[in-house]
Amino acid sequence: MLIIGSHVSFNSNDQLLGSLNQALSYGANTFMFYTGAPQNTNRSKINSSVTEKAIEKMKENNIDLENIIVHAPYIINLANNKEESKYNFSIRFLKEEIKRCEEIGVKYLVLHPGSHVGVGIEEGLQNIIFALNEVNKSNNNIIILLETMAGKGTELGITFEQLKTIIDGVNDKDKIGVCLDTCHLNDAGYDISKFDDLLDQFDKVIGLNYVHCIHINDSKNPIGAHKDRHENIGYGTLGFNNIIDVIYNKRLDDIPKILETPWIGDYAPYKEEIEMIRNKKFNPNLKEGH
Ligand code: FE
Ligand code: FE
Ligand code: ZN
Repeated sequence: MLIIGSHVSFNSNDQLLGSLNQALSYGANTFMFYTGAPQNTNRSKINSSVTEKAIEKMKENNIDLENIIVHAPYIINLANNKEESKYNFSIRFLKEEIKRCEEIGVKYLVLHPGSHVGVGIEEGLQNIIFALNEVNKSNNNIIILLETMAGKGTELGITFEQLKTIIDGVNDKDKIGVCLDTCHLNDAGYDISKFDDLLDQFDKVIGLNYVHCIHINDSKNPIGAHKDRHENIGYGTLGFNNIIDVIYNKRLDDIPKILETPWIGDYAPYKEEIEMIRNKKFNPNLKEGH
């Protein structure tokens, strides 16, 4: 079954119910949200009665809570321990984020592995492993999904081998997984147009059973650019047909696909993009009139 949605907002009042309503207005059957602003760590308490209402409404709309994804804020950086207070803060904040996920009842938390900012790749990877094992001490059932990164700056998690190193170091294998991102894979140097080869390679290095989410984005930049600038579906260097082939690849059936494509001015184009995906037909007018 096609499980498709986009990132949506999560505000302090409506919380999960507001996110769900947004997703429904896009014709989505899943969604992803940050528990507050992605760039900061101000978080409001999870309101359990709102959560219950949202879960009730999800059932009415055949949306499975297990397919809903939470994204950790980007300011968490587990790779650099030079500034000890920042490193410890990242660990502490991730622990709290896991608690919030447990309160809401979601299963998957997407995390950018981090940027080593000078300590080097090896040490950076070891810092991530140490932090994840620390975090998992108080993690009951949330699966942390390491996102494949574009390779901007000193980002880690830009090759399957780096992700494999992290996963190997994590003690609790049932609390770790991977979130593929089509824009990031392209920018990191992986060829999306040969997607089955890419999956073969991933399967050989890590194992496809570790993939639990895919971010669907076109890219503004050519393969290997290490930039990380998302583009609307069919408007970038990946192209519409290649993205459709990713989404409908049988090996990734039943895995949530999440759009993180840019807004067009102040308009969120997810309803139209989801329509394009469901119809497998490119809409050349998406950017007009907004
Ligand atoms: Fe991300
Ligand atoms: Fe992403
Ligand atoms: Zn990105």
